[in-house]
Amino acid sequence: MDEFSLIEHFFKPLDYERDDVLLGIGDDAACVRVPHKMNLLVSMDTLVSGVHFLPHWNAYDIACRSVMVNVSDMAAMAANPSWVTLALTLPELNRQWLTLFVQGLKDSLNQFDMTLIGGDTTHGPLSITLTIFGTAPIGTTISRGGAKPGDIILVSGELGAAALAVKLLENQNISEQDKVELMDKLLHPKPRVDLIEFLRGHATAAIDISDGLSADLNHICVASGVGACLNKETIPIHPLLDKYWTDNAVDLALTGGDDYELCFTVPEYRLSSLINDLNSADLRCYPIGVVEERAGLRMKDANNHYYELTPKGYSHF
Ligand code: ADP
Ligand code: MG
Repeated sequence: MDEFSLIEHFFKPLDYERDDVLLGIGDDAACVRVPHKMNLLVSMDTLVSGVHFLPHWNAYDIACRSVMVNVSDMAAMAANPSWVTLALTLPELNRQWLTLFVQGLKDSLNQFDMTLIGGDTTHGPLSITLTIFGTAPIGTTISRGGAKPGDIILVSGELGAAALAVKLLENQNISEQDKVELMDKLLHPKPRVDLIEFLRGHATAAIDISDGLSADLNHICVASGVGACLNKETIPIHPLLDKYWTDNAVDLALTGGDDYELCFTVPEYRLSSLINDLNSADLRCYPIGVVEERAGLRMKDANNHYYELTPKGYSHF
């Protein structure tokens, strides 16, 4: 099987009909129609074998993960994900691996009504790069740069489980059921596309928590020219951290990456209407602190003691 029949056999079937795809896989470039009065948003994430996943991971899971982390970037911009392109570098032509990979890609793209519109296939160390394209009504895009002093900081879910999964990967003293739950958090992140419309209605800034809350909130602060004070008691910690990581639960929740929840800011006067709107949709987000004029991150503990937080999270270099 050569490169061209590989594309035809494995990837062409993922290019399913979408009215807005004028040309998909098979030409020199894909051609899509961006809906009237919408902006196009573009983002890219690479997963490298041995860095973002282990080579023995199931190819289905690797494919799902690469879609989910990209969709999460769209959710953080309050953009609806539409299309992806795939740059795939393969060490060998392994049909079994490719079949699983394509199935994972298909199932996860289908979840969001997305389609694969093109890509590039090369030979080399295993690496997967997805470029994702999404749209948002003009004027509704939410960047990292809009947080204002006084805004309330929220996160969209309990933190730390994916980082705990990495820490406990080799640990035998953990129940099988908990292990399954933790690995699911790590392998199958659920990007918060369910929050897109609420962000559009209320948020001043947003980011997805891929590198850890403190590092990612710091990105909002730097981009917005503000600082933040968090309330230690209110940081939602995944229950399994209380069970297996009691001493440093908050620390892991603040610095552990891979949660793919959203951190966002809303003006204080909008907080109650946001919470009402979320409640009516059976959703919950957690207020964890407030944006301040003074740069940097601070934490207030149960005894009203304040201390500086050093933003810490994943960095490749
Ligand atoms: P070119 O030589 O013009 O770069 P390629 O042979 O790389 O074309 O690709 C042929 C077609 O197959 C293009 O439409 C490209 O977008 C698509 N394609 C190649 N690899 C992939 C892939 N891994 N996933 C999806 N589409 C792909
Ligand atoms: Mg090419």
